[in-house]
Amino acid sequence: MIVPGDPAFLCQAELCSAHCCKAFSVALRGDEVTRLERLGRVNRQRFLECEGGEPIALPLADPFLLAREDGHCAMLGADLRCTVYDARPNACRLYPHQVVFVEPGTGRRVTNVSHSSYRKALAGGDEALVPLLLRHLECPGFTGPPMQESEWAALFVETYRLQYRDQDVSLQQPLPA
Ligand code: SF4
Repeated sequence: MIVPGDPAFLCQAELCSAHCCKAFSVALRGDEVTRLERLGRVNRQRFLECEGGEPIALPLADPFLLAREDGHCAMLGADLRCTVYDARPNACRLYPHQVVFVEPGTGRRVTNVSHSSYRKALAGGDEALVPLLLRHLECPGFTGPPMQESEWAALFVETYRLQYRDQDVSLQQPLPA
């Protein structure tokens, strides 16, 4: 779990094996495909897994998959940096952070409740739902300066917004201290 005062994340591509861009297959939606084509200036046949020259589209909320080659994402450069950084998919923007909601007492993860319930919990107004900001333990990038409470709160809300696709949540959303 990440709390105010913990070190901020700074990508250490030269020190690590770019675990995030190697270990995981990245799923993405149509709007993220469009962003990659537009900002990344790259053809979808180049960055999506294809079959017979056409992108594979699975019957899922995130139907497309980033192409992989030589055991890593096809967009990873030789210097272990992303070659389409400004247009990268949401999953890449989230990494290495994650927001989960749990029941106090049991610690059981709660999913599939409404955005309004999540927002209420983020504002500290739901005693039955506790939001937590988590980090990927294997990522070696948590070497930055200690996060101020305002930076931590902004990261918390931005991670929630991207992960839960809730555009209406405010960056000023109060969080439980
Ligand atoms: S798109 Fe960029 S950040 Fe995302 S997995 Fe590929 S190389 Fe890594």
